[in-house]
Amino acid sequence: MIRANDPNLRSWVPIPEHSDFPIQNLPLGVIKVNGKHHVAMRIGDYVIDLAVLNKSGLLGVDFVDSLFQNEFINDCIELGREMTRDLRNRVSRLLDDKHDELRTNVDLRESCLLPIKSVEVCMPVKIGNYTDFYSSKEHATNVGTMFRDPANALLPNWKHIPIGYHGRASSIVLSGTPVKRPNGQTKAPDQENPVFGPSKQLDFELEMAFVTCKSNPLGSSISTNEAEDYIHGMVIFNDWSARDMQSWEYVPLGPFLAKNFASSMSAWVVSLDALKPFRVPGPKQDPKPLPYLQYDGDHNYDIELEVLIESPRFNPSRICHSNFKYMYWNMVQQLAHHASNGCNIQVGDLYASGTISGPIKDSFGSMLELTWRGTEPLKMPDNTERKFINDNDTVIMRAFSKNEQVRIGFGEVVTKILPA
Ligand code: CA
Repeated sequence: MIRANDPNLRSWVPIPEHSDFPIQNLPLGVIKVNGKHHVAMRIGDYVIDLAVLNKSGLLGVDFVDSLFQNEFINDCIELGREMTRDLRNRVSRLLDDKHDELRTNVDLRESCLLPIKSVEVCMPVKIGNYTDFYSSKEHATNVGTMFRDPANALLPNWKHIPIGYHGRASSIVLSGTPVKRPNGQTKAPDQENPVFGPSKQLDFELEMAFVTCKSNPLGSSISTNEAEDYIHGMVIFNDWSARDMQSWEYVPLGPFLAKNFASSMSAWVVSLDALKPFRVPGPKQDPKPLPYLQYDGDHNYDIELEVLIESPRFNPSRICHSNFKYMYWNMVQQLAHHASNGCNIQVGDLYASGTISGPIKDSFGSMLELTWRGTEPLKMPDNTERKFINDNDTVIMRAFSKNEQVRIGFGEVVTKILPA
């Protein structure tokens, strides 16, 4: 077992009840202190400044200063799964209530353990490439039913290929960053000509995304057995979509401006190591995928997901809860497929799951599905209705894994929509 995962560990740092960030989590992120970016880990409502901690010598290994005096976690995760596991174990030991070195060193403790409210939390990853998959069978079935043919909702390729497309990395923003409603070209079905203006069907997509920590040379591939060495961890991902722009523009080349104006992600990258206790078997894949997509072991994860809407007129109101375990294609299959043609995966790439819908209506991961393309609006606490997302609405996504002993969470992605 990974030492830092021991459910019996307790920290001397106070952890609020139901916190997403117990000592068993210790996700990586980036903070800004005194104008400088440092790599950090989160525990409870505190962050551990790894740049300061590393200088103290208490980690027991001297990591190069530039790993942590860094604007992003990329160099740190590029150390590889084994080294970041070792780093997490070392930090865990210093925060463990059986160890006093850091707790009793008041000066050091006060300079490296900082209340999260006292620091600026920054975008953790310099994202080179962003790919969006389409791996929830329930989501693909819902969309196929609405837009094409209920009898043949899944296209013939869907159960053979983890379908995906290349998204845009430059417009991925951190939780807390407001997003402006996009302008774009749309054409209503009953109109002859398109118009240009603010999207009328702005939607969220409830997704998780993984961050890669290893690269393969161009022209080489990655097997499903090797794929986990390439995945450091995961974040919550809201892949904003303008449905009216999408339905007009996507033929024949797929998503473009309806998707690339913004996607929002959570700030703390939770390691696959910390999620290990929550591995579960995936759905049975029938037909059996081609050999390069077959895998051993369990690669789905039991991660509870929820979406809430808040507005100036009402408090956060939950509109959907789903689970990452419903994914038909898992992350190792997605990555093996992505590199199967020789495409080079790079450190700091982001791979989103695609909208995660579950089997029942309130587990659908988008307004498109929850309101069935606007035909069944959702009632809000102030008695207004939502078909899609209004200006000044805030969409909140949360994700956490939980068993009887420990809760490993991702925090949240909070995004306010501003007028076009
Ligand atoms: Ca998506």
